Amino acid sequence: MAVSSEFDLIRRYFTRSTRSAVLGVGDDAALIRANAGTELAISIDTLVEGTHFFANADPQSLGHKALAVNLSDMAAMGATPRWALLALTLPRVNESWLKEFSRGFHALAKRYNVELIGGDTTRGALNINVTIVGEVPTGKALRRDGARVGDDIWVSGTLGDAALALAAIQKRVKLNADELKKVEQRLHKPQPRVALGLALRGIARSCVTSAIDVSDGLLADLGHILERSHVAAHLEFAQMPASTTLSRHLRTKIGKQALLAGGDDYELCFTAPCRARDKVLAAAKRAKVKVTCIGSIEKQQRGWDDLVVFDADGSPMKSAMKIQNAGYDHFR
Ligand code: ADP
Ligand code: MG
Repeated sequence: MAVSSEFDLIRRYFTRSTRSAVLGVGDDAALIRANAGTELAISIDTLVEGTHFFANADPQSLGHKALAVNLSDMAAMGATPRWALLALTLPRVNESWLKEFSRGFHALAKRYNVELIGGDTTRGALNINVTIVGEVPTGKALRRDGARVGDDIWVSGTLGDAALALAAIQKRVKLNADELKKVEQRLHKPQPRVALGLALRGIARSCVTSAIDVSDGLLADLGHILERSHVAAHLEFAQMPASTTLSRHLRTKIGKQALLAGGDDYELCFTAPCRARDKVLAAAKRAKVKVTCIGSIEKQQRGWDDLVVFDADGSPMKSAMKIQNAGYDHFR
């Protein structure tokens, strides 16, 4: 039977029983109770048709991605994701779309024990807005402002595949069908590094000094850590983790750009003192994620760039500054 009203739509697609909320979907507000000794981490992210996804995007992937990008923010804070709110603006009621979208959303929510506790549903141009609430033991959150001179700079997984996929879809680069399938997965179905965020918060606070998730490109996002921490950084291009697919394109400008500044990776970039190397590697192992040390935190120096990328023979890459500025910014 077709949905007959906004409330029917909410009930059918977005109302699920909640175990951890005091009150979920259905009242004027949800009620949640934070555990004693914790702080709440709260964040919001919007996906807009035409800006973040194509008009014909697969709805199940969209449902997944709308939540995944928020889970990634929780991962970057070292927070345990708990509750989500979904504000949906829809041009029309398309039930097969809603069915697939909610399926993608709920499947990922279930995997991470996140409960959908409320939202809003309106008519207009397609816009998907998710608020997420997580918990972190008091004082233990991973923040952007703690990087110290001498720290190692680490990154999880591999970088640049999502940007390579986008370049291929836009016909700026040619990939074979097998390659395209692999990198498209990274673009459409990002896997947030929640387990790594939790493992990193679990090692002593002095061992992980800062963290951010890489959503707008490594150089741009690492730039936020540098700015908040008042430090500079040296990166080694040859150390940057790339997939075998992207590795085949690293001589090209598009390949380099994807690795250094490609958006939508949803990996974690974090800093830790050198003495914590073994602890960092052990935490990553527990989280079953590869982490790679890609450079070091340096002192800021007047007249010098805060972020310098060195190529394999040790000379600064001229293009890196230009590439840094290519990090995604909606208002530039
Ligand atoms: P109000 O008029 O008080 O804003 P709504 O009619 O917008 O309430 O929503 C009714 C209930 O359904 C609320 O509990 C709200 O949180 C929930 N809700 C509305 N839209 C969604 C959605 N897309 N996903 C989850 N919950 C929703
Ligand atoms: Mg409302």
